[in-house]
Amino acid sequence: MATIAFIGLGNMGNPMAANLVKAGHTVNGFDLVTENLETAAKNGVTVMASAHAAVNKADVVVTMLPAGRHVLAVYRDIAPKAAKGALFIDSSTIDVDSAKQAHAIATEHGLLSIDAPVSGGVGGAQAGTLTFMAGGSKDAFAKAEPILEPMAGRIVHCGEDGAGQAAKICNNMILGISMIAVGEAFVLAEKLGLSHQALFDVASTSSGQCWSLTSYCPVPGPVPASPANRDYKPGFAAGLMLKDLRLSQEAAQSAGAATPLGAEATQLYALFNAMGHEGTDFSGIINFLRGQTEAKK
Ligand code: NAD
Repeated sequence: MATIAFIGLGNMGNPMAANLVKAGHTVNGFDLVTENLETAAKNGVTVMASAHAAVNKADVVVTMLPAGRHVLAVYRDIAPKAAKGALFIDSSTIDVDSAKQAHAIATEHGLLSIDAPVSGGVGGAQAGTLTFMAGGSKDAFAKAEPILEPMAGRIVHCGEDGAGQAAKICNNMILGISMIAVGEAFVLAEKLGLSHQALFDVASTSSGQCWSLTSYCPVPGPVPASPANRDYKPGFAAGLMLKDLRLSQEAAQSAGAATPLGAEATQLYALFNAMGHEGTDFSGIINFLRGQTEAKK
């Protein structure tokens, strides 16, 4: 069993750290928020006074932080203190360029590193069924896999440094675009007098089939577990969708890829967020689209 430093014990980090404790690892945790440290302590995490203290004697360091700037600041701070050969796993969703910089900092200090963002949300973090998308060397991945196991339903090695973040933002760009497409189709169906169920029954088994329709249907009824059935409580908040879409656009610009629908989806989610819906499930964009339809009258 390993000694693991866990830095960033928020909505995702705390349940992930709890699953590492349950698997028998020693977990030394640090966060800036006292309330989060209290939750961690209840889950069996040993609360430390600083990131430095958490990293001392750790075989593995897991970070679950808001954005690239937080990850780079923490890496610059703790990498010089870590034991040579320790493994750094960053599971935050961050931009590809920062992820590559984080790997470079780790390498400079003789550490192994992978970027390993997740999908599956807080529910997946609690259940230990997250999908991990990993980027890094074969050696780093081999060492990381058994550590990720108690937190994971699936672990995919996507390629070299930054490939995990690349996979994450490409996937979420598909998701943002497809949710808008499905929402538009339901709004058009309403105008054409076609029932939600009829559109669902046809499209869910036809060429319009996709996850946004069949697993996360944005109208109440056809998929009882979708957030549309509970007043669009997240789920996956629109604020986080906007964050991921913006990351996709930064990456597209940096890599020179044309992503016109990704750009349009980013604009629409920015407007939806600006209207005060950061905390609404991202499938609630259908209500914004319906509003646009009404405004056309
Ligand atoms: P969160 O805001 O709840 O947690 C982030 C934590 O990091 C906070 O507790 C904050 O205090 C801590 N933190 C910030 N700077 C720190 C520092 N210097 N040292 C120690 N702690 C520090 O966010 P979250 O929902 O847990 O998300 C974490 C990451 O996971 C994000 O990158 C997010 O995009 C990604 N993610 C979230 C979800 C989700 O559904 N919430 C799903 C997939 C991926």
